[in-house]
Amino acid sequence: MRSAPERRELLRAVYEEARGCVRCPLHQTRTTVVFGAGNADADLMFIGEAPGANEDRMGLPFVGQAGKLLDKLLAEISMDRKEVFICNTLKCRPPDNRDPHPNEIEACHDYLSRQVDLIEPTVICTLGNFSTKLLRADSTGISRLHGHEEVRTIGPRAVRLYPLYHPAAALYTPSTLEALRKDFHRIPELLALGPPEQPRSFDPIPEIDDAPEEHDEPEFHLGEPEPAAQLGLF
Ligand code: URA
Repeated sequence: MRSAPERRELLRAVYEEARGCVRCPLHQTRTTVVFGAGNADADLMFIGEAPGANEDRMGLPFVGQAGKLLDKLLAEISMDRKEVFICNTLKCRPPDNRDPHPNEIEACHDYLSRQVDLIEPTVICTLGNFSTKLLRADSTGISRLHGHEEVRTIGPRAVRLYPLYHPAAALYTPSTLEALRKDFHRIPELLALGPPEQPRSFDPIPEIDDAPEEHDEPEFHLGEPEPAAQLGLF
């Protein structure tokens, strides 16, 4: 089992790697790699589509109008973005905000997989079609799936996957906003369920009683994650 500080350090290493990424042609047009931000030990993770112009300039996810709506919806469920982790399917902005291309999604998938693996969320909200299709490995669209939670194994862990409409889609369509808000308000209920049952291979290996004790000190005194507000990016 990896402690939260260990996972956060590993996440930082992935971030350092992603910052110099040249795996797809988007590196030629991006200003900044938008890795994601928030609590590296979050129970709740949001995965959007790709950075837009504001995000590309600032290096942070969801800082435009869609992000403001996301903040508002989080506030409605008494949460804020410091408690959650927010990232995108693509870490670099597609020129002119065009849709992500399959080769870009494929090139970036490994970063997302490692983020999910290291953050160990209980609930993942995919925002819109691109992240929903990627995480479900299925072409069913968001209008059929939104608001329907399911337990999915992603990497080595089972999570509660909860597809939502993308906030950008809700900005100008009142019925989409209404559906997004209704679905969003169920997030606390899903979080309260706790982690789903894990696949057997994920069961921790039981400690042998007479094995030397590696950590006599209470580990969290040194390594407890700082409050998210102090963490910079995460
Ligand atoms: N901003 C993001 O960071 N992601 C999106 O998907 C849209 C806007």
